Amino acid sequence: MRFPSFHPANGELQRFADGESEGSERERVTRHLASCTECRALVSFIRDVAAKARNLDAPRAPAEPRAAALAAPLRTVRRFGRIRRC
Ligand SMILES: [Zn+2]
Repeated sequence: MRFPSFHPANGELQRFADGESEGSERERVTRHLASCTECRALVSFIRDVAAKARNLDAPRAPAEPRAAALAAPLRTVRRFGRIRRC
């Protein structure tokens, strides 16, 4: 039975998961992953999180930002107006 070498640093695993590692670093991480289920799971997790982040909807600005900004104080005034009449 072959034991895995020391685990690569988190940054090395991150670069590998992102497809950004090159040369000897990539070869070393590839060899390590062949025998280390813990690091394979971490690389899989990093890729899964990155894929989910790419699928998130980006926040959208209101169609008319000025109208939305002006409407907010009006709602506050109306709410205080109701409280005063009670
Ligand atoms: Zn490992």
